[in-house]
Amino acid sequence: MNVFHNQRQFLTDALKKNRLSHSYIFSGTEDLQFAKAIAKMILCKQEHTGCDSCSSCVKVNSENHPDLNVVSPDGASIKNAQVEELQEYMFIRPYESKHKIAIIHQSHLMTESAQNRLLKILEEPPEYAIFLFLTQNLEGMLETLQSRCQVLGFNLDGESETDNSPEITDKAVDFIQSIENRDMGRILEFSAYAKQDKQRFVIFLNRVIIILRDLMIFRETQNKQLIHEVNFSILEERGQLMKSSGKLSRKQMVELILTIDHVEQKIKNNMNFDLTVDNLLFHCIED
Ligand SMILES: [Zn+2]
Repeated sequence: MNVFHNQRQFLTDALKKNRLSHSYIFSGTEDLQFAKAIAKMILCKQEHTGCDSCSSCVKVNSENHPDLNVVSPDGASIKNAQVEELQEYMFIRPYESKHKIAIIHQSHLMTESAQNRLLKILEEPPEYAIFLFLTQNLEGMLETLQSRCQVLGFNLDGESETDNSPEITDKAVDFIQSIENRDMGRILEFSAYAKQDKQRFVIFLNRVIIILRDLMIFRETQNKQLIHEVNFSILEERGQLMKSSGKLSRKQMVELILTIDHVEQKIKNNMNFDLTVDNLLFHCIED
């Protein structure tokens, strides 16, 4: 499963930090084995390693873990009745784990009414519930459903994988929060992050700009639908939507966007990268 190393790492980190979302869409893959490996890790009794030897892993491997349910298309679609059954299952507390996991394979094949039926439980999921949707065709899933999930990209060409990487969004939120909190130490830590991978840092800067714009729009409208899909669940999860209602003024946010945009241009024009990064970080501290 090496191809999905980044996604796996991201989910492992979230699990360790107790920040797992209730619902993920694995977009671009229908690899059931990968989803099962993630479920195994979440349910594993040996510190979530997916050890293959604890009672929980053994049950996942032999496909009879009571807290894991896999739903696949029945013929050409996943039907209303299947989703109804799944919903009933998910509303019952887990038997032996902290979590109860539903894997929905080829989830774009859910009929529209089946998808609609799921909205309510996704809106207010029981605290133990985790939904993993696998689809090669994200467009086949209702936007209302997508917006309730964290979308993880599984494109096999490396570039777009990084572009959609939730890891970078997470890092971008860290950055914005460090600026809000005037946390000098943490801001300066981004120097090392930048210098590790220039290409990634440019994507990161872009992400910071997008998030700042999202936050500004959200502040004006209070409309969650307007927030960029990839960012939404991470922002909400980290309390950024609420927290950010005053720490940086509109003017400060605009200035930050302009500064970052300027820095991006400099990097693209091959100005001294290290110096440009350090200038940016000092600028963030001064403000
Ligand atoms: Zn185990």
